[in-house]
Amino acid sequence: AAKAAGRDRVHLFSPGLRDAARWRMDVATRLRDGALDQFVVHYQPVVRLDTGAIEGVEALLRWQHPERGLLAPDAFLSVAEETGQLIPITRWLLRETTRQAAEWATQGLSLRMAVNISARHFSAETLVRDVRTALRDSGLAPEQLMLELTETTVAEDPTRAEDQLAVLQGFGVRVAIDDFGTGWSSLAQLMALPIGTLKIDRSLITAAERLATSGTGAVLGAIVELAHSLGIRSVAEGVETAEHLRMVREAGCDLAQGYLLARPMASGDVTRWADRVRAGG
Ligand code: C2E
Ligand code: CA
Ligand code: CA
Ligand code: CA
Repeated sequence: AAKAAGRDRVHLFSPGLRDAARWRMDVATRLRDGALDQFVVHYQPVVRLDTGAIEGVEALLRWQHPERGLLAPDAFLSVAEETGQLIPITRWLLRETTRQAAEWATQGLSLRMAVNISARHFSAETLVRDVRTALRDSGLAPEQLMLELTETTVAEDPTRAEDQLAVLQGFGVRVAIDDFGTGWSSLAQLMALPIGTLKIDRSLITAAERLATSGTGAVLGAIVELAHSLGIRSVAEGVETAEHLRMVREAGCDLAQGYLLARPMASGDVTRWADRVRAGG
């Protein structure tokens, strides 16, 4: 386990263009040689906008690199996906996060656990088995697990996506569309899929801020309203300022996530954070 600091002090290591190829090769080699025990999960609270209560957490992958320190996904995720290593990493992450959520539940802290699933894993046979195994071994209620899929992942092959989602829903797992607003898929198309949650990308929040001449994020409001009419909840991502918070509340978002509310943090800090929120601090 890493000595991950409570605050999310992630090294944003970005190799220069000249070193990028060497960095990618180094990452690929390390992943192949079994860096699995160097991965760490940080958790970012997702907060209800009506009560301010914590609803769940999103699991975010970090790599405790022996020389570079704690790395954000930017530094290694695409290499891990390309080399096929992201599937075994995510298999581990599913086990770890469901175990963690089940442990919190026994402590009276019932949080929905959101896990990001890559396009490759989503289209792999093994996903259903990986999810089922993690749920069985942890004893976590399936409804407490939410898989986050980006709109590009589900738009790649809508028919296959629909089948895969139906199977997952069949055993009670929740599904969210992640980064909504970054792709070109239509909301109507996405809404035909069995999803319960729409995560509105940070870029739409900042765009709404720029466009809001009369203080209303009309685009944001329209998206949220359409989602609601289909029984889909929306999460505003990347809420960084009090103005963002005011805007997404006004737009009718159900939930919010962002640095203003809480940064990603190590597991031990989640219980302390939740206690403080419950105590009204
Ligand atoms: P994401 O799924 O959209 O996750 C949210 C990202 O936004 C996280 O970055 C989080 O730290 C960051 N964030 C949260 N609040 C704010 C805010 O108020 N302002 C700003 N500027 N950023 C905020 P992180 O942890 O660096 O992850 C980046 C991306 O890497 C994630 O974006 C996700 O696409 C991917 N990722 C992370 N963990 C996993 C994983 O386990 N599996 C897969 N497939 N992808 C992952
Ligand atoms: Ca996500
Ligand atoms: Ca997102
Ligand atoms: Ca994103």
